[in-house]
Formats: sequence, structure tokens, C-alpha cells
Amino acid sequence: MQPTYSIVVPVYNEATNLPMLYHRLQAVMAAMEGISEVILVDDGSSDRTPILMQQLHRQDSRVCYLRFGRNFGHQIAVTAGLNFARGKAVIVMDGDLQDPPELIPAMVSRWQEGYEVVYAQRTRRQQEGWLKRLTAYGFYRLLRRLADIEIPLDTGDFCLLDRKVVTLLNQMPERNRYVRGLRSWVGFRQISLPYERDPRYAGEVKYTFRKSLKLAITGLVSFSTVPLRLSTYLGLFSAGLALVMAVLVIYWRIAYPASPLTGYAIIAVAIFFLGAVQLFSIGILGEYVGRIYEEVKNRPLYTLAEVVGFETSSLTKPISE
Ligand code: UDP
Ligand code: MG
Repeated sequence: MQPTYSIVVPVYNEATNLPMLYHRLQAVMAAMEGISEVILVDDGSSDRTPILMQQLHRQDSRVCYLRFGRNFGHQIAVTAGLNFARGKAVIVMDGDLQDPPELIPAMVSRWQEGYEVVYAQRTRRQQEGWLKRLTAYGFYRLLRRLADIEIPLDTGDFCLLDRKVVTLLNQMPERNRYVRGLRSWVGFRQISLPYERDPRYAGEVKYTFRKSLKLAITGLVSFSTVPLRLSTYLGLFSAGLALVMAVLVIYWRIAYPASPLTGYAIIAVAIFFLGAVQLFSIGILGEYVGRIYEEVKNRPLYTLAEVVGFETSSLTKPISE
């Protein structure tokens, strides 16, 4: 029997949040018409998360779960959840209750109106450090300027996706996944739903600065080739600068034949500047080439240590239809 709603929740060391998450989710599910399933994706947790998932599944068969062989990252966990989800509509949300489950009915009613993608848009972030808020603010605006597609500002992965969209996302083979970008890329009727992002219920932030930076670079590189062109612009700029300098030097030589010019400083600065430009450009190239290499290797996106609660048919292969 196909459930109407699948709620996909990636969890990484969220043992302190899981009981509350389930408590709030089941209240929301009880109020909704139609059958729901919850798909927890354990991204290689080292705390009690797997035990709690098992308990929840025993207690409520609507709770299914996947357990990765190791930590593969949030975006891959979301992807796995989408691979296994069977619902006509799939909701993706964080496991730390920053995305309030109580928003789901509002998303569902937009979906029933005919929207294929309903994404939650943060109007305010509570209790997140100024540095995180500032970098997130800057990043989303930079991405908007550079990306080839329109990616809405201040949206995370909290969203509802129609089965059509899920099928398309499941067909996308790329490994460097920026799910919210791919979600915009598919098109269809999309609508935002403003919400206030709650503070984390318990536990620590799992997105370290390094992980966030990696996600930001993936977002930029996957949806824009402008950075590649940056080296061309920088090269043109340096060439222009060199030309101006050459003219100045010639003028100086003719006007003041005895002057020893400006000395070594200018040469040192020019060398450092050009060196920096070259390294920077090579770095950008490396970002793209490295990703091409990743894609070419074509390894599976994740490894599964456990698949629990899905029927036998879906045990062997992820459902993508
Ligand atoms: N998460 C994950 N794998 C990771 C890091 C995070 O599955 O490697 C999950 C985490 O359990 C949570 C969600 O991704 O459900 C968002 O993580 P977090 O709250 O740390 O990030 P933030 O809300 O600060 O963006
Ligand atoms: Mg969070």
C-alpha cells in the first residue's frame, strides 16, 4: 500500500532529539488524512541514535530507517531518504527540530492546491551565532548572483516534494549534491512558505564550519561556471595593469633618464600579485576538475548497513518510481 506522505529525516548523532521529534511528528501525522511513513536516515551516528530508531520502529511500524555504513553527509542522507520514500508527497526536514513539524499540514495544503514543490523560507533564525547568520546571508546572495538558475534566498532543505519531482531527483546521477539547488533546477510550480526557524532542541550543531564551507562551494560550483571565468577577468585586469606600467616606465625613462625608477618594491608586489592570481585560478580549476574526477569514479553514493521497515520488494532496490 502506497503511503500518501513520506517524512524523510536525516539524523546524525541526534539521540537527544529523536524522542521529541517522534512525539511531535506523530501528533502531526495523527491530524493529517492519509497514511504517512517516517524515514529516518542515520548518517553514521556514534551515539544511541540507532538504538532509538529501532525502538521507534518496534513501537510504530510507520517508522522505517536506513543506516549508513559511515558518515556520508547531510545531502547524501537526504538523497537516500528520497530514494527509499514511497509517498505521493515527500517531506524533507532536519532531525533537530529546527524545522517545526507543525508546518507540514500547511505544506500539504499548498501541495493539494497543485504546487509540486513547497519550500520553507526562513524569515528569522533564532539563537544562531552572528557569524553563521552573516555568512549564510552573504552566501545565499552570492549564489543568487552567480547561479545559472534561480535559487530562492534563505531556504534550506525543509520542503515538500511531489512524487514527480522526487522521481526526477532520483534520476540525477551527480554525487556532489546540492539538493536545494537541484530542487530549484527541476522547475514545476514552486511556492515558498515563510517560517521562523526554531533553535536546535537539543544536542550540538553537526554542520561544522568545514562542512558548511564544503556545502557552499558545492552549491556554487554545481550551479555556476562564473568562477571559472574569474581567472580570465583577473588575467585581463593584470594585463591592463602591466600595459599601464610599461607606458609609465617608458615615459619615466625619457623624461628623467638619470632616475633609478621606483626600485625593487614594485617588482616584488607585482610578482606576489601575479602569483596569487595564478594560484587562485588554479584552485578554482581544481574545484571543478576534482568534482569531474569524483563523478567519473561513479561509486555508489552511500553504503547501507541496515534497511529496516520497508517491505521486501523495496529492501533490494531503492524505489525511484
Ligand atoms: N546531518 C547529517 N549528517 C551530517 C551533518 C548533519 O545527517 O554530517 C543532519 C543533522 O542530524 C540534522 C541536519 O543534518 O538533522 C542539520 O544539521 P545541523 O542541525 O547540524 O545543521 P544546521 O541546522 O546548523 O544547518
Ligand atoms: Mg540544525
